[in-house]
Amino acid sequence: MPKLHVITYGCQMNEYDSERAAGLLTQFGHYELTDSPAEADLILLNTCSIREKAEEKVFSKLGELRPLKGRNPDLVIGVMGCMAQLQKERIRQRAPSVDLVFGSPAIARVGELVDRVRRERRPVLEVGEAPLVKLTTRPRRPSLKAFVTVMEGCEKHCTFCVVPVTRGRERSHPPETILAEIQELARQGVREVTLLGQTVNAYGRDLAPPTDLAALLERVNEIDGLARVRFVTSNPYNLTSRLIGALRDVPKVCESLHLPLQSGSNRILAAMNRGYTRERYLELIAELKETVPGIALSTDLIVGFPGETEEDFAQTVDMVERVGYDSLFAFRYSRRPGTPAATLPGQVPEDVKARRNTRILEVAERVSAPKAVALEGRELEVLVDGASKRDRRQLAGRTRCHRVVNFDGGGRVDVGEIVQVRITQAMPHSLRGALVEEGAHVC
Ligand code: SF4
Repeated sequence: MPKLHVITYGCQMNEYDSERAAGLLTQFGHYELTDSPAEADLILLNTCSIREKAEEKVFSKLGELRPLKGRNPDLVIGVMGCMAQLQKERIRQRAPSVDLVFGSPAIARVGELVDRVRRERRPVLEVGEAPLVKLTTRPRRPSLKAFVTVMEGCEKHCTFCVVPVTRGRERSHPPETILAEIQELARQGVREVTLLGQTVNAYGRDLAPPTDLAALLERVNEIDGLARVRFVTSNPYNLTSRLIGALRDVPKVCESLHLPLQSGSNRILAAMNRGYTRERYLELIAELKETVPGIALSTDLIVGFPGETEEDFAQTVDMVERVGYDSLFAFRYSRRPGTPAATLPGQVPEDVKARRNTRILEVAERVSAPKAVALEGRELEVLVDGASKRDRRQLAGRTRCHRVVNFDGGGRVDVGEIVQVRITQAMPHSLRGALVEEGAHVC
């Protein structure tokens, strides 16, 4: 049977798209997956355009793969995802070994596109919009956790972002389709799902009749066998009191929220076209903390956006301290061709971005460390993922607030179970704990 090797760069949406493409190609036994590119008859690179470095990585990987074509003339190399959508001509010029370039909307037709390459023996380019199709195929039986796309695209037009171009306008999948997919996943043993969308909390407003994410979460909560639900990525602009209420009231929804701030400066937020101010963001945080005590908060920040002064950056630092995030991702601004911010005056030098990036990570560490320490002595619900990476005799799992906990299961706990663990020590990036013996199994 021909073999398929998939390489994925970028975000969770890309991970999920890779799964869907591989699922389509492997169903009905057309391909089988291989971990070795040297053995493959078809190699797909799912790419990311969010930063220039990510694109360079893809070109370098394509250079590495080129000699394989000499050894296997039937090998087909395909590039999919955001970069395919935006850089099709550059890919053809810089990487002539690529046979197939297709954007995310064409994933549903991946099998047909590969067949066309083989039949016509010429490169195939397929980018542009396509009807919304819900793909539920997966290359491997899902394990404990699975991603489920609930909507595609984004209409926010943040000035630094390529997503509205690469993934098109917002389109939600009907609740029934999503629920059927999750029911099937739960039947196969999945205990936790993460609902995915570029602006997941805008879910449903394009449907007829319109609905919202809170209503969807309530229905997902009813699915037997499923233990936990998460959702990413939320936009502060669309965060409603109804959704905050669902974080408190819907039992299977975990008390954690990733809420990208991007900048703490109102001037920069306006230049980014984010649609909220620091004051509005702080109001939302206050409501979240009041409604869902102990909620874990994380965020994304961009440092060195065009025109960002030391004062603007100080405002971002101030926000990190005020909000007290449990974790954050900081990115140095990277100019993406075709986005409005790429041509803004006041591009910030790389050394300044690097310094600000280091500083924000230091502040984040300082702010989050006491939050982990505060968990010492508490009993937390842990979904057991498997053996601990550090010590295979121990088990590892995640709390509802998404922290990793390593503990001794004493041979009495299985993967997929939910147990109570008393936290004994907060480490820099994980927790240590001890199994609570009495009434330990709560699933
Ligand atoms: S909301 Fe997110 S995906 Fe949409 S344009 Fe802004 S950064 Fe990009």
